[in-house]
Parts: sequence; structure tokens; C-alpha cells
Amino acid sequence: MKLKYLSLVGLLLLFPTVCLQALGTTSNGAPGESGDISLKEDFTDREQQHIQVPTSGLFDDAPKITIDLSTLTRNDWCYPMKNGRVISPFGGSRKNHAGIDIKTFAGDTIYAAFSGRVRFAKPYSGYGNVIVLRHSTGLETVYSHNKRHLVRIGDFVKAGQPIAIVGRTGRATTEHCHFEVRINGKAYNPARFFDTTLRTLKSMKVIAYKSGVIETYNVVPANNIAEAE
Ligand SMILES: [Zn+2]
Repeated sequence: MKLKYLSLVGLLLLFPTVCLQALGTTSNGAPGESGDISLKEDFTDREQQHIQVPTSGLFDDAPKITIDLSTLTRNDWCYPMKNGRVISPFGGSRKNHAGIDIKTFAGDTIYAAFSGRVRFAKPYSGYGNVIVLRHSTGLETVYSHNKRHLVRIGDFVKAGQPIAIVGRTGRATTEHCHFEVRINGKAYNPARFFDTTLRTLKSMKVIAYKSGVIETYNVVPANNIAEAE
């Protein structure tokens, strides 16, 4: 993992003018290319049957991992619902809401937040039709209440790829996407990773411990540093 990280840093140092908002460039740090964990092995039965499962191998090398979101280019992430607005926050009044509810319109498209592989894609109790993507960074993202799925379990997806059509399957009173971000099975507030007003990925580093604690550090985007100099 460290070697991969260093090579990413090296690339950014070599090309300091690489703009994080660049359009149409080939990504240097796409999850799946710079992978910390392999997405090649087939998922276990448990991984295919449940949403909340630990990620095997994630903490094999060390008791903590670093997920550097600041090195991702504009092509490496996508807000899952364009023009979506949050109608229910993480936690909520009963403290048990494992994600955020993003509202747009019935029939809208849901996009993969990052490149990765489909670990789960079927109905699951109150979630209704739900997709879980595993990303090589160690993150997993969850998209639920879907009307229809556009990908199947085992598929590799690119960031921004359409993966589902929004619906209200499962326990849902209106069409929306229930979106979760998980690490090693534990759900964290997606608003720690995404600015849900601007609908952008936050430029930051996440340190995730095996204990479940995470720390987040804001990172000034590389293009801003280059401009300052
Ligand atoms: Zn929800």
C-alpha cells in the first residue's frame, strides 16, 4: 500500500499542474488502478448475502489504513445523484440511520461514486433493491431502494457509471437513494466524505483504524498548491 501511495505522490510531484478538476484526462489515481486491496477474488458467500460484512484482508498489513481522497481526479469520483438533495441525514432522530437519503425524481439515474466492483446487488429487507460497491481504497458504497439495477454482482464499474434507477423499494415512503459509505462493514456519515450541498468529494485523507475509529484530515488540492507557488 505504501509503495502505491508513494508512486501516486510521485506522479503528482512530477505533474504539479495536474488539475484535480481536469476534464478528459486519464486518471492517475483511480481506485482499481492504484488499489490497496485486490478486487479480483470472488466474493465469499457471506459477502454476497449481507451488506454489513468486514472486508477480508483490509487490516492484514497494519492496524490502520490511509484512504487518500485528495489524490483522486475529477474522473475518479462522482456524486451518486446529480442534482440530488439530502432529505434525511446520517444518524437522524433515532440515531440509527446508516446513510443519507438523497432525493431527486423517480426514474433518475444513480451513479457509482468510485470505480470498484459490485459485491451485492439484490433485494435485502428494508433496503429494497440494493447495490454495494467495493472499492480498492477500502471504502464500500451502498445505494438502496432502487427501482432497477443496471449492473450485476461481480461486475467492475467505473466512477460515474450508471448503476441503478432510483425507486422506493423496501422501507421507503418516497423515491430516493439511500446512500451509505462503509469501511470494514461499519457505516460512516457520507457527509464526512462528500460535500452534500456542493455535491463534491472532499479533498482529504482518511485514517481508518481496525477498531472502527476514523480520522479525517483536509488536504489542500495539489493544483491549489501549485498555483500558490
Ligand atoms: Zn435512508
